[in-house]
Parts: sequence; structure tokens; C-alpha cells
Amino acid sequence: MTAYDFDLITLGAGSGGVAASRRSAALGARVAICEGSRVGGTCVIRGCVPKKIFMYGSQFGEALADAPGYGWQIDAARFDLAALTAAKNRETDRLEGIYRKMLADSGVALLSGWARIVDPHTVEVDGRRITGERILIATGGIPSHPKIEGIELAMSSNEILDLTVLPEHLLVLGAGYIAVEFAGIFAGFGSNVSLAYRADLPIRGFDDDIRRRLATAMSERGVTLKPGFSPARLERAGNRFVCTGADGSTIEADAVLSALGRSPNTQGLGLESVGVATAPGSGAIPVDQWSRTSVPSIFAVGDVTNRANLTPVAIAEGRAFAETEFGGAPRSVDHRLIATAVFSQPPIGTIGLSEADAIEAGHDVRVFEADFRPMKNTISGRTERAYMKVIVDRNDDRVLGAHMIGADSGEIIQALAVAVTMGATKADLDRTIAVHPTAAEEFVLLRTPRE
Ligand code: NDP
Repeated sequence: MTAYDFDLITLGAGSGGVAASRRSAALGARVAICEGSRVGGTCVIRGCVPKKIFMYGSQFGEALADAPGYGWQIDAARFDLAALTAAKNRETDRLEGIYRKMLADSGVALLSGWARIVDPHTVEVDGRRITGERILIATGGIPSHPKIEGIELAMSSNEILDLTVLPEHLLVLGAGYIAVEFAGIFAGFGSNVSLAYRADLPIRGFDDDIRRRLATAMSERGVTLKPGFSPARLERAGNRFVCTGADGSTIEADAVLSALGRSPNTQGLGLESVGVATAPGSGAIPVDQWSRTSVPSIFAVGDVTNRANLTPVAIAEGRAFAETEFGGAPRSVDHRLIATAVFSQPPIGTIGLSEADAIEAGHDVRVFEADFRPMKNTISGRTERAYMKVIVDRNDDRVLGAHMIGADSGEIIQALAVAVTMGATKADLDRTIAVHPTAAEEFVLLRTPRE
């Protein structure tokens, strides 16, 4: 028996914190988890899950538009955002209940309130002090507010998920994951959407061929793209908003979403007083491969560490921490090869290096690609195309990267990610028999490298 109240005190009941706490408890640790907001964190309450529900909701617009080509006559369809938001809220409530039950069933004590670290083994939550042999910071991220005059007038991804009235004209600032996802969602609902971003193409960091095709597809779906727009000022103009760019140009809208990145959520945790180092600029908590901070008894996982800010990565980091500290089986997470999906419309799935990054890393590459109109888009009259790209190392035939934009690309890339993670070569893809007729089969039918 240790002198501490708990073996582990976790701060934050999101994906990383819950995974770490449950696995630690399963390995015999006495665990408390502190949460000041709702259990489930960003992903379940105000991120991945409600976003994807909205995405599904918005895709009925696409289905309705395509239906006549398939013989359906649908009259007087009408979208009700309030009804969808209410249904989404019921679902997040249900999931929060499941999360609470999972914690209780695992024997993890849930303490409600915002926690502050008082010393390397003590946490204060809701006026009560508890001690732990180890403390795990899993407080996630919050929307960033870059220094742009009036930016506080804009919604973040938190608020846009609670809208009940559809804006006629929505301005989305930024062009990362969140910006392109919500631009697609609201365009699908029927809003007139402008996407304004400072770069020449959206989703910096992704393969350029994918980025170009996303820009084309979004504008074909009615999103007005404003590349090269650096927001400088946001103001109210009656019931509307006016955003002025650094070049003096203006964009008017009924509602504005600021999707200009996310920051580690470290405010008020007492990190400075207890000596936990944070990175200058980002404020993230630097950790080693075992998720150890600069204080030996304090660890951190998930977005607060700003490694790869994705739910499955936080979960993997949390479980690896638990197994290392309480399971006697040290394990760390390999952050080099992480598959990801952007739920833009059409969606993107990707694993490994972009062509530019592969070349920059010194690989001699062969590039295989397929650009085609999916079968479903033929008789519907939709002109949108799908695109796949595989980047192969010429020397050892290894697949360095696989990228797709088109329907179901998140689902497709997940399966392909297994092969790429195992070190698949192009020859492995070539000897795989196709599943026909699918779009995914193109990944195993690519024969001629690009000139
Ligand atoms: P991102 O970092 O992806 O994108 C931020 C965007 O804001 C970029 O377009 C960036 O431009 C722009 N930006 C930042 N600062 C400024 C500024 N001062 N002026 C103008 N533009 C600016 O952040 P998101 O908020 O979209 O998402 C945060 C993270 O959440 C993602 O990185 C991802 O890890 C995660 N996420 C994952 C999802 C998924 O898996 N599907 C879904 C949603 C979020 P530039 O590129 O020019 O720097």
C-alpha cells in the first residue's frame, strides 16, 4: 500500500485520459479521473462524433441531388438544422452516459471539477486535495484565437455544432481539417459557404495532387474559395459580419467560423508552479517517448502534448503509458506512420509520405495514380472524380505513401494502412486480387508509373 490516495490521478476525461485510466485500472492501479466539463472530451462531445453526425446529415443533400438520375422523384425536401442538432445532442448525451458507465465499471473514480496540480503528487479538484503516485495530464486542446481584431465575434467548432438556424451565408476562416470539414457540411445543408485561407490551396501538409483536387471539388459543390486571404479584422455590420483581409478586401457573411488551429489546453493547471515545462510559443507539454514530462511523477498524453493531434493517437499514447507504468511492459507509440482521414466532401484518406515529402526525404520515387469518375457518378450526372495516388520507393519497391480523395476514402485507407504499416511493396499490391466493382480496387490495379 502506498502513502498516496491513488496510484494515478488523470486530468481530463477525453479519449486519451479515459483510455489511460481504464487500462491502468485494469492493470490493478487505483485511479481517479478529474473532469470539469462533460465526460468524453473533444472527440465525443464537440469533435469527431458530432461532426460526423452533421456530415452524414449534410450528405442527404447530395443523395437528393443524385436521386433523379436513378429514377427517384423527390419533391419538397426541406432541411431542419434544429432537428438535426437535437438528434446530435441526444446521441452525445447517450455516448457520455456510456463513457461514465465504462469508467464506473472499470473502477475509476470520477471527480467533477477543474483540477489544478498543487505539487508533484497532489491535485486540487473542486476544493478537495487528493494525492497520487503519478499524475497524467490529458486535458486536450482548445480552439486557437490568433491575434486578429474582432476574432472573438466568430464561432469556433464548439459553437457551430450547436446552431439551430442555418446561416444563409457562412464564412469559414482557415483551411485545415476543421475548416474544410465544416465548409462541406454547411454547403451540403444548403448554406452559401465561403472558405477563406491565406495559402494558395487548402489542407497544407497533404499531397499537392489531393489538395488541388479538393479545391476543385469544393468549388464544384458550390463553396466559394478565397485563397490568399489573410484575415486582419472581423466586425459586425448590423446582423451581419464583415471580415477584412490584410490586402483590404472584404467578405460579408451572416455567420463566421474561425477554424484557425487548436492550442494545448494548459491554462490554470498550475504547471509553472510545479515545474512542468511547456514549449515556448505553442504552450504544449513536451514529453519523451514514454510520455514523461520534465517532472518525474507527471506524464502527459494526447493533444496537450501536440504530437499528432488525433483521437486514436491519444488513445494509443494513453494505453502505452498505462502498460509501461502499471503493466510492467514498457511500450511506446510509433508516430511515424499514422493514417488519417479528412471528412471533407469528398473525403480524403491518407497514410505515409506525400510525394513532396518523400522527395525531400531523399527517396527516389515512382508515382502511380488513378483519376476516374466513380460509377455512381455516371448516371447521376455528377461530374466529380475520384483520385488515388501511391508513392513507391524505386530502390526497394516499398510503398511510402497512399492517398485518396473520393467517396469512402477514410474507410478504404484504413484497410490499406494495415498493409503499408506492415511494409507492403508495390509488388504486394499488384498480386492482390481486386474486389470488383469497387473504387478501392484501383489501389491494386495501378500498373503504369507516371512519367
Ligand atoms: P489545422 O492546424 O489543421 O489548420 C489551421 C488552419 O488555420 C490552417 O489553414 C492555417 O493556415 C490557418 N491559420 C492558422 N493561423 C492563422 C492566422 N493567424 N491567419 C490565417 N490563417 C491561419 O487546425 P484545425 O483547427 O483545422 O484542426 C486542429 C487539429 O485537429 C488538426 O490538425 C487535426 O490534428 C485535428 N482534427 C482532426 C480531424 C480528423 O481527423 N478528421 C478533424 C478535425 C480536427 P496555414 O495552413 O497557412 O498555416
